Amino acid sequence: NADNADLKALIRTIPDFPKPGIQFRDVTTLLLDRCGFSSCVGRMAAAAPGPVDLVAGVEARGFLFAGALADRLNAGVLLIRKDGKLPGATIAEDYALEYGQDRIAMHADACAPDARVLLVDDLIATGGTARAAVRLLRKAGARVVQAQFLVDLPELGGADALRKDGVDVHALVAFE
Ligand code: 5GP
Repeated sequence: NADNADLKALIRTIPDFPKPGIQFRDVTTLLLDRCGFSSCVGRMAAAAPGPVDLVAGVEARGFLFAGALADRLNAGVLLIRKDGKLPGATIAEDYALEYGQDRIAMHADACAPDARVLLVDDLIATGGTARAAVRLLRKAGARVVQAQFLVDLPELGGADALRKDGVDVHALVAFE
């Protein structure tokens, strides 16, 4: 089914997390389901734009999808982490949060120039995280051939903003 209703049904909504008024889309319930998780990764792999060298995952839930997807695509895994967690020389990128800012980082030597990289995370909301990840990967010389998400929250505009940045965006499920 085109809207992946079977996967959507496995995602739990927690009201008022992490604060009042937020409907948190909890993907841990999909991860617990062996068929659901496998189908999710299989559909992500089917949507990939040809061969990729690396799948880049964003800490922390993005790592789960990145590892499984990389295995299916015969690619390596590139970790994008909160700043200060990686042991080697890093490059970093700042992005705005609702209150304040945050910084993500990757190893400076993690990808070869022009490497074909597929970015993955569990969810895109405002797009702040994913857009910073794309800037970071491009700074490292990567070609970001696609960004994939299990969940898109289209009302928050992140996927559209990412497309305007010139990225091919694919999400399996949308919550209005
Ligand atoms: P954005 O930067 O697009 O506003 O937020 C996306 C990032 O925050 C992702 O790394 C995602 O894991 C996390 N996030 C924000 N809202 C939710 C949510 O409702 N559910 C989940 N699972 N993650 C969220």
